[in-house]
Amino acid sequence: MSDKILEIEHLTVSFGGFRALNDLNFTLNQGELRVIIGPNGAGKTTFLDIITGKTKPTAGTVKFKGKNLRPYAEHQIARMGVGRKFQTPRVYLNLTPRQNLALACNRNKNVFPTLLQKPPTPERRTVASLLETIGLSPKADLPANLLSHGEKQWLEIGMLVAQSPDLLLVDEPVAGLTDEETERTGELLVALSESHSIIVIEHDMEFVRQIATDQVTVLHQGSVLCEGAFESVQSDPRVIEVYLGQEETEHAA
Ligand code: ADP
Ligand code: MG
Repeated sequence: MSDKILEIEHLTVSFGGFRALNDLNFTLNQGELRVIIGPNGAGKTTFLDIITGKTKPTAGTVKFKGKNLRPYAEHQIARMGVGRKFQTPRVYLNLTPRQNLALACNRNKNVFPTLLQKPPTPERRTVASLLETIGLSPKADLPANLLSHGEKQWLEIGMLVAQSPDLLLVDEPVAGLTDEETERTGELLVALSESHSIIVIEHDMEFVRQIATDQVTVLHQGSVLCEGAFESVQSDPRVIEVYLGQEETEHAA
């Protein structure tokens, strides 16, 4: 089997005549943690939409674990092992973290037995180890609406991990978090990258510096502008021009 979990070749996505993605080439190794940055409109969200099957390519191929995703619908691709974390946490606020995770572990089964019965031992261990991983063991039995924004984000990451995806797609996980929560989110993602392949889309440069242990990819106008270690990407004049320049303008505004 290939050691590439994701292989994308000559990917183009047109909306009307406009190319949101333009002849994009990208590969991700098994177990890699990749950060994707790029200015607004670069095509980052469209890129995730293509991997999950929400949007289909106009041209080019996307292979996941060696399989062309073209014929598969979104729910089939999710079942093949692609999990996506959206920007806004989607947790049940009236349930506790433990109950939310138990539901996520049982996604395809009936909801009520999960809530009313004690889950069997192996599963309880899974929920307990997930709580441990996301750092919510002390708050496991509080209603989720009492959690901070950051804690809700971790809970949702835990719910995603409960479904054992091979590839985790994470869209701007630290928007609106405190500095301390941001750092802990970084530690969580780095820890998860030991057992998952992960793509993180992010704007926060300090956060990118923290988690970019592998490669960083810069998207611009629907194509890969450059790729490499954080330091080399950060000092690339093309990146400074299209991305960091824009961010400074935004901050000044
Ligand atoms: P990013 O996430 O990097 O900000 P997007 O992938 O959301 O960029 O969008 C890339 C470009 O494609 C933008 O110019 C956006 O306006 C355009 N776009 C995205 N989705 C659609 C759509 N469904 N129809 C038309 N244009 C779209
Ligand atoms: Mg976007």
